[in-house]
Amino acid sequence: MDRSKKVIFVSHCILNQNTVVYPLARAKGAYRDIVTELMNNGIGIHQLPCPEYRYLGLKREPMTKEQYETEDFRRLNKGIASDAVRIIKEYISSGYNMLGIIGINESPTCSINGEKGIFMEELLCGLSEEDIKLRLIDVPSDYYDGVRGESFIKALRDFIE
Ligand code: SF4
Repeated sequence: MDRSKKVIFVSHCILNQNTVVYPLARAKGAYRDIVTELMNNGIGIHQLPCPEYRYLGLKREPMTKEQYETEDFRRLNKGIASDAVRIIKEYISSGYNMLGIIGINESPTCSINGEKGIFMEELLCGLSEEDIKLRLIDVPSDYYDGVRGESFIKALRDFIE
């Protein structure tokens, strides 16, 4: 079968809400409506690692960006980001269509719009050093899979077109 050669990068918890801080899960597992939209368009979903999970595991408390702002967490994010940049470069140099990155709005780590999270700061900085510009979108903070998400799904549809 021919592959679509279309790839989108997503924050880890879009495919796995089990990694989010209690009690913030907004789906039982993956965000079904988002994944369905991507699958219906034949798009490959490249899952970024969850930096907070790697740093503090599953029993972590909700924390602000200021609380996460430590040398260790920055270093961890720089490492994950530089690995992601290498992967993105490989897709691009192999002729794949990189559709963009989906982050999580208002996350201290993965937010793209508004105040950026620590991981997205590192990732966008790494991409700009390589002169790579990707389209960016966040899952809004009021998105709730299957319940309150229609406007985001519409926005996503435009985004991937
Ligand atoms: S750190 Fe990022 S991937 Fe992990 S739960 Fe938070 S928003 Fe999702």
